Amino acid sequence: ATPTALLTGTGRGAQLGILIKGPQILESTRRVDTVVLDKTGTITTGEPVLTHVLTAGALSEEAALKAAASVETGSEHPVAAAIVDGARARDIETSQITGFTNLPGQGARASIKDTEVTVGKADLFDEVPAELRAELDAGRGTTVLVGWEGTARAAITVADTPRETSAAAVARLRELGLTPYLLTGDNEHTARRVAQEVGIDPAHVEAGVLPQDKFARVRALQGQGKVVAMVGDGVNDAAALAQADLGMAMGSGTDVAAESADIVLMRSDVGAVADAIGLSRKTLRVIK
Ligand code: ADP
Ligand code: MG
Repeated sequence: ATPTALLTGTGRGAQLGILIKGPQILESTRRVDTVVLDKTGTITTGEPVLTHVLTAGALSEEAALKAAASVETGSEHPVAAAIVDGARARDIETSQITGFTNLPGQGARASIKDTEVTVGKADLFDEVPAELRAELDAGRGTTVLVGWEGTARAAITVADTPRETSAAAVARLRELGLTPYLLTGDNEHTARRVAQEVGIDPAHVEAGVLPQDKFARVRALQGQGKVVAMVGDGVNDAAALAQADLGMAMGSGTDVAAESADIVLMRSDVGAVADAIGLSRKTLRVIK
């Protein structure tokens, strides 16, 4: 391969909003046969909105939302932002919190006065009332629980929708002969709904994957002989981006993701993934 042609390829990439961190990367891009897409912030906008609050027992919806939003003022997660914004839209003021703890891929925790409040997945609670469990299974979106003293007291649902461009982008990946996968820490219901909306085979959906396991999922696919491109945006995607044969970060995402990736997509559009792979094939065809 002539360096000049490769540099022309990376230059053309820059024009398309595809930042390729070195001409040699085009070569690994060409061999990719599997594209693993993170859900939140990659396939979807990553800006979910609050849609439902359901409480168990006598707790008011307002009190539940106030407690959850207060804890989430400490978090930068998109789910947290939706809860904080949703409370604000309902004129609910947040309380002062102390001892904020982020629980990556699971939720967050902080104290309000003397009560430690937890927001996140069911696993964080010893007891989950049946009506809240039913809400978790309803599949209306991403449902998280809020509670204290080991008991979940309310279910809060936020819905994240695919980017307008995602379905067409997934179709283009298929046309290029690539197999798309969806990988997410979110629940099975939401993952399957989003996969269906954008045209990813349900058999290629991996839901409920903890941040540290995203990396292992990529490695498992490689173990099956696949050449894997991973596309992600979050801190929780960094290890998987590094493990993949080709790591691609959404430019709208975190710096950590961008640093771990081989390619940074300046357009918040999965279509840029297809562009990058198409470009590398074209560039290398010219060279050969
Ligand atoms: P993704 O892989 O889709 O980008 P994450 O791994 O960041 O998602 O989070 C997985 C799940 O953990 C979320 O869908 C949510 O249920 C829960 N979660 C993570 N952080 C928080 C938080 N700050 N508040 C509430 N729930 C959270
Ligand atoms: Mg993400």
